[in-house]
Amino acid sequence: MAARPVSDRWRVTSRRPVDLSARDASAKTGAPGDKDATKAHTATLRARLAELQAKLYAEGSRSLLVVLQAMDAGGKDGTIRAVFEGVNPQGVKVVSFKAPTPEELAHDFLWRVHAQVPSDGDITVFNRSHYEDVLVVRVHDLVPEAVWRGRYARIRAFEELLHAEGTTIVKIMLHISAEEQKERLQERIDNPEKRWKFNPADLSERHHWDAYQEAYGEALGQTTARHAPWYVVPADRNWYRNWAVLQILVDTLEQMNPQFPPAAEGAEDAVVV
Ligand code: AMP
Ligand code: MG
Repeated sequence: MAARPVSDRWRVTSRRPVDLSARDASAKTGAPGDKDATKAHTATLRARLAELQAKLYAEGSRSLLVVLQAMDAGGKDGTIRAVFEGVNPQGVKVVSFKAPTPEELAHDFLWRVHAQVPSDGDITVFNRSHYEDVLVVRVHDLVPEAVWRGRYARIRAFEELLHAEGTTIVKIMLHISAEEQKERLQERIDNPEKRWKFNPADLSERHHWDAYQEAYGEALGQTTARHAPWYVVPADRNWYRNWAVLQILVDTLEQMNPQFPPAAEGAEDAVVV
């Protein structure tokens, strides 16, 4: 029997709401060693990710969708930078979902999302996603409860469709603590190099912490699936988070097992003249 993938540790396997308050955001369990040892292993995983991505791209018949969600200052941008720095930018796309435009709002909530799913051979990372439509939308009562609640089933059906048509889906929540968020937001105010990221709205959003955690907990349980699993990664420590996210992606791609396609007929004997 094959060994369980390392990333199973963070996988959400039950439909029950996830109690995020019971999960230590600063955990470093399962790490291959201390900070330095883990960083060294992270570099190895980064190289492995690049190899697997090259094969997925060459194979050109399947794709990978990575959904990244987190509270404000949860580290989504930093994760994307650290995890994908070694891959070929051709074949990897990052899509950020902001508050919907009037045109987007005039359509169903999946319209803008479906338009951005990966093409064959590609990896697409969603920096926020259709999950905002059961998170911020729920917390701020932007649609009636019956509507956002109905979206869990809509999301499950949508992700099933993508999966059936050749897209592997992996969903990652970067879990930070309220204290860590406070420090990071303060750092955005105090550090001139980070101030561009500071959004005064983040301060008022912070007051809805518990409501967001509840919305996340329910969304994670309602939409985790064998073919589209959620992972909750302790994300107070960047080095642990980067290692964990890479581990999840490498495990997922290894499971997909992409292959270089066979060479064209007669390629072995061809001579360039
Ligand atoms: P940021 O990721 O910091 O650039 O912020 C993007 C903002 O867009 C966040 O405040 C999200 O809550 C908001 N946002 C993203 N998707 C939606 C959505 N479907 N409905 C409402 N707000 C959204
Ligand atoms: Mg922001």
